[in-house]
Amino acid sequence: MLDGVVKIGGAKGNNHNNTLVDLANRVRNGERWVLCHGVSGAMDALCSAAGMEPRYVVSPSGYRSRFVTDREMMLFEKASFSETAKICFALGTMGIPVMPIDPMNTTLVHGKVKDVIRAREGSKTILLRGNRSGKITSIDQEEILVIIERGFLPIFPPLARDENVPRYINIDGDRLAGSIAASCNARTLVLLTNTPGLLEDVDNPESLIREITLEEWHIAERAAKGNMKRKLLACREALEGGLQEAIIADSRIENPITNAISGGGTHLWRARSTEIAV
Ligand code: ADP
Repeated sequence: MLDGVVKIGGAKGNNHNNTLVDLANRVRNGERWVLCHGVSGAMDALCSAAGMEPRYVVSPSGYRSRFVTDREMMLFEKASFSETAKICFALGTMGIPVMPIDPMNTTLVHGKVKDVIRAREGSKTILLRGNRSGKITSIDQEEILVIIERGFLPIFPPLARDENVPRYINIDGDRLAGSIAASCNARTLVLLTNTPGLLEDVDNPESLIREITLEEWHIAERAAKGNMKRKLLACREALEGGLQEAIIADSRIENPITNAISGGGTHLWRARSTEIAV
């Protein structure tokens, strides 16, 4: 069994170093983990260096995502591999054997592009073509477990191999972490971000929602705005896929994974344990 899948946020304000030190200690103690990472900050920086405005769209159902065409995809791949390399270097210097994952050369993550997407523009819904973002269609859990069995920590960028054409597609890092956690039967999924967890009021860091079950999901959905909606969707998919627990927690503190596992952040459960309720 996998001890956990951790996803480190790509947005500004996330602290990777604390997470990597904590993860390295856990792996040294014999735990089995997978690490996924985001690239939003790195991608925004590359776009601005190339004189390109980062493009985001909001779907009719309110999900915000990056709009990536062939042009942006070149930068997205660069941002992804440069983040993977940075993480591998940091973990490597701590003596952790890492395996940077390139989905093009493996069967690990396949996806399907949604070429035309619907997006909100003011009060209208418009159609946008040339999209290179997509949905995960398969995860090769056996191969992932083989990599871990051989003593490596796999590091996943938010990319998949298009199942129809040999090219990369942009996928959501939180949903990738959730899919891996559910398909590899992980003990936990830890999504680390730049807030204390899911907040009742996004502007009040004291308003942390500590626990939620699938049955109480409407409470979480009411609170989540912007990018947090997609993080919740990732947790929900993983819980519905069989995972028992997902955690959204703070990456900016010391030992963020250990803090999350020991009760910090927001714990999202498939169902409340009857043992606890008794
Ligand atoms: P990351 O790159 O760390 O995954 P995201 O930008 O994808 O970060 O998601 C985290 C952001 O979600 C926060 O910085 C915050 O602005 C936003 N957010 C929206 N609603 C909430 C909420 N209810 N609680 C916490 N954060 C929220």
